[in-house]
Amino acid sequence: MKMLKILFFLGLSFTTLAQQNSTATRPNVVVIFADDLGYGDLGCFGHPNILTPNLDKMAQNGAKLTSFYVAANVCSPSRAALMTGRYPVRSGMTGERFRVLFPFSTNGLPKDEVTLPEVLKTVGYSTGMVGKWHMGHLPGHLPTDNGFDSYYGIPYSNDMGYEDLKSHPYKKMFPPLPMMENDKVASTNVDQTQMTKDYTNKAIEFIDKNKTKPFFLYYAPNFPHVPLYASNDFKGKSKRGLYGDVVEELDWSVGKIFDYLKANNLDKNTLVIFTSDNGPWLTEGIEGGSAGLLRNGKGTCWEGGMRVPFIAQWNGVIKPSQVITSMASTMDLYTTIINMAKGTVPTDRTVDGKDIMPLLTNKGEKTGDEFFYYDAAQLFAVRKGSWKLHLKSTDVGSGNITVHVAPMLFNLENDPSEAYNVAKDNAEIVKQLREAAARHEKSVEKKHYIFDDVKLGNNN
Ligand code: MG
Repeated sequence: MKMLKILFFLGLSFTTLAQQNSTATRPNVVVIFADDLGYGDLGCFGHPNILTPNLDKMAQNGAKLTSFYVAANVCSPSRAALMTGRYPVRSGMTGERFRVLFPFSTNGLPKDEVTLPEVLKTVGYSTGMVGKWHMGHLPGHLPTDNGFDSYYGIPYSNDMGYEDLKSHPYKKMFPPLPMMENDKVASTNVDQTQMTKDYTNKAIEFIDKNKTKPFFLYYAPNFPHVPLYASNDFKGKSKRGLYGDVVEELDWSVGKIFDYLKANNLDKNTLVIFTSDNGPWLTEGIEGGSAGLLRNGKGTCWEGGMRVPFIAQWNGVIKPSQVITSMASTMDLYTTIINMAKGTVPTDRTVDGKDIMPLLTNKGEKTGDEFFYYDAAQLFAVRKGSWKLHLKSTDVGSGNITVHVAPMLFNLENDPSEAYNVAKDNAEIVKQLREAAARHEKSVEKKHYIFDDVKLGNNN
């Protein structure tokens, strides 16, 4: 009996040890996803006076990607691509009438999508989210319904609350901003000046609670999306005005997370990624960001709308001070993180993301060199290698779609600002890119686009 007890005890110990070993080599992952931060808004991406010492240091300690894309030019579909590894037209996370989800939307990320945290949970990860979700705010569509163990944040954009829309003709369709804790509204009295500090504390709290096993933290600040608010520690400090204050406070937030990881000896086993959900909102004028030398911004398929700053740090794995010019996207993060965690990428559907770990670790290129630019459910442009063909375009603010019967071709390597149309001199390239676009469109099943599911009530 005594022996049995010992064996029983030993058996349990072996199991625990085996579990620990199977997870010990799996790194933690922190993805920080800013809102509407432009390609040119960080010091390490060339901004002259927004001071981002922590993000600059992150770039020095890791890799900076200069051709990194989001799969949509506005919030909701861009976030869906990160969570599913798929172009949003495949999941139906887009609309023909509405381009994002609103507080009056009735739908969210379809249940049959397999999210990144759902896969990570199957291989023993703790999963937490802090910040802006924007893939459905009603029961059944929240982060905790989509693979996250915990959630804290505003479930949609910070300009969708009554506070900012008091004079709007549809004000009744926008209740006060809800701050949610898991699936409950914790408060409807959100002080946005404290939001960055609040989110930072919650992000660190999640890491602290879960540091003994592999964790995935998805931290999606609501800033620098308008309306802009900074705490007193940052307000009025940046030469770039309130927009600069907000970005500098976000930089501080990133620094606090790194400080915590280092102090708890987690920095060598944690991959940290920083990027943005779409380009700068140029119609907001001085309160919108900058795409630097890239053309146009949020809501367009010009480079400024969809190419975003990207930095990855993983001490001891990603070499310091790398600048990688190869193309990659948020969809690739899905596949990369799942592979790294030794999870299984779904095989019963098209996953567009490719593993970019070889790229980040100097062991090779990612497979495939094509990228497709969608505006809502329409394919606007295609990139293959250095070439980009616009089949359609729109300019920020105009909302008018121009169909280019004679498409525009740009060589993004020597013309990153898309200033010189060279279609006439490159008929064969135009033909190849047209064919790539047609192939891609054929691969997408026509879906029910869920952003158009809305409940429009009394507006006054
Ligand atoms: Mg956004």
